[in-house]
Amino acid sequence: MIGAGPAGLAAAVAAADLGLRCALLDAGPRTGGQYYRHPAPGLGATRPDRLHHGWSVYTGLADRLAAHRRTGRVDLLGGHQVWALERPADTGWAVHATLGPAADERATVRAAAVLLATGAYERQLPFPGWTLPGVVTAGGAQAMLKAGLVLPGRRIVVAGSGPLLLAAASSLVTAGAEVPEVVEATGYLGYARRPDVLAAVPAKLVEGAGHGAALLRHGVRLRRRSAVVEAHGTDRVTAVTVARLDADWRPVPGTERRIACDALAVGHGLLPQIELATELGAATRTTPDGAVALAVDARLRTTLPGLWAAGETCGVGGADLAIAEGELAAHAVAGAPAPTALLRRRARLRAFAELMAAAHRPGPGWTGWLRPDTDVCRCEEVPVARITEAVEELGAGDARTVKLLTRAGMGWCQGRMCGPAVACLSGAGESRADSRPLSCPVPLSQLAAGPPAS
Ligand SMILES: Cc1cc2nc3c(=O)[nH]c(=O)nc-3n(C[C@H](O)[C@H](O)[C@H](O)COP(=O)(O)OP(=O)(O)OC[C@H]3O[C@@H](n4cnc5c(N)ncnc54)[C@H](O)[C@@H]3O)c2cc1C
Repeated sequence: MIGAGPAGLAAAVAAADLGLRCALLDAGPRTGGQYYRHPAPGLGATRPDRLHHGWSVYTGLADRLAAHRRTGRVDLLGGHQVWALERPADTGWAVHATLGPAADERATVRAAAVLLATGAYERQLPFPGWTLPGVVTAGGAQAMLKAGLVLPGRRIVVAGSGPLLLAAASSLVTAGAEVPEVVEATGYLGYARRPDVLAAVPAKLVEGAGHGAALLRHGVRLRRRSAVVEAHGTDRVTAVTVARLDADWRPVPGTERRIACDALAVGHGLLPQIELATELGAATRTTPDGAVALAVDARLRTTLPGLWAAGETCGVGGADLAIAEGELAAHAVAGAPAPTALLRRRARLRAFAELMAAAHRPGPGWTGWLRPDTDVCRCEEVPVARITEAVEELGAGDARTVKLLTRAGMGWCQGRMCGPAVACLSGAGESRADSRPLSCPVPLSQLAAGPPAS
C-alpha cells in the first residue's frame, strides 16, 4: 500500500483482517494523510480530536493497525517516499523508495500487488500578488493549524472554490482567527441538479451545515460568484481585491472591493497525485472538474494488472469515500467478495464526489484576472507575458512546449503548482496526465547505486 492516509490505512487494516501480509509505505513519519494530521510532537497537544471531524474513526483504524503490526501482518514504513514503481516480468512489483539524502537511505519493497493511495495536492490558479508572504493555500492553512497549531494570520480572507473553503474557514474562526469573508467562485447551484445524490449522503449535508453554523456564529460572510483578483502588500499581504464573476469566472468590471487582511487562504480544489501509475501507462479519466484521475473498475482495479487505487487517486471525494474505497480495494486484492453495503456506500459517496466536482469546475474566464507581469510559475519566476509570447509568437500549442521555451514547470515543484495554469494558458486545457519518470527528487547516488538486494 503506497500512502497511509485514510484510503491506504483502511486498505492495510482490511487486507490484514482478510489474512494478507502488507507493507504500508508513506513519505511522512505517521499515518493519517492529509486529513488526519497530527500536531507536531514537540507541541505537547493533548486534544488533537478538537481540530478534526471523525477523529474516532482514525483512532479505530490506528488501533487495528497497531494490532496487526504486533502480529507482523503489517509493516509500517514511515519516511519512505516512493519514487517509482516497476513490474519486472512475472516477478511481481518492485516499489522503490528514498528515505533520505545518503546513498544507503533507500529501499525496494517487493510485492505481489500494489495499491496506490497517494492522495491529492491543491490546484492553484495564479493572480496578481499570489506569491506574497501571507498568501497560503486553503489546505495549507488547515495543515498549519492541525499540525503546527498556528494560524497564518489574525484576519484571514478565505477564497477560491470547493468544499475545503468552508472547512478551512470554520476551523480558522473556531481557532480564534477573524475571517471577514469566504469568497467562493461558484454559486453552489450545481449541487441542486441532483437532489437524489444529495439525499443519499445525509452525513455530508450535516457536515456542511455544521461549517455553515460555525460561520454564522462568527459573523462570517459567504460571498458567492466572486474571487480574489489581486493581493496587495509589499513585505506581506495587507489587503485583497474581490470582484464579482460572471458564469465563466470572468471578473465583472466595476464590482471590485478591497478587504483589509493579513493573510489569504486560497485554493481551487484538489488534483489527484497519480504519476507513479501514469508513468507505467495506467489509463486515466477526466473528472467533472477537469482534473485527471486513475480509471478504475467497480473493484478499484486500474488498467495495469496487479495495480489497484483508492481514495483521491480515483478522483477527489473526501476521507469517508477514501476509507470505503480502501476497504473495497483490500477485498478485491484478497480475492474476497465485496460486502454489498460497502459497495453501496462507495457508490453513494462517489456520486456525491462527481456532483461536487461538477459544481466547482473552474470556469475558463479566470485568466481574466491575470496581468502580463503576474508570475505563473513561481519556482522559475515565469510571468504571463513570457507564456503568451511562447504561445502567440513562438507557436507553442501545449504545456510541454511552453515549458521548454520558458522553463515554466521546471522548478522544484515540477509543475505541481503552475501546471494547470500553464496548460490553460497554452490553450491545451487541463486534462492530461503528468509524466514524471521520478515522482520526487532522488539523490543521484541512490539511482547510481541501483536497487538494494532485498
Ligand atoms: C493540503 C490538504 C488539506 C486538506 N484538508 C482537508 C480538510 O481540512 N477537510 C477535509 O474534509 N478534507 C481535507 N483535505 C482532503 C482530504 O485530506 C482527503 O479527502 C483525504 O485525506 C483523502 O484520503 P487519501 O487517503 O486518498 O489521501 P491522503 O490523505 O492525501 O493520503 C495520501 C498519503 O500518501 C502519501 N504519499 C503521497 N505520495 C507518496 C509517495 N510518492 N510515496 C509515499 N507516500 C506518498 C502522503 O504522504 C499521504 O500521507 C485536504 C487535502 C489536502 C491536499
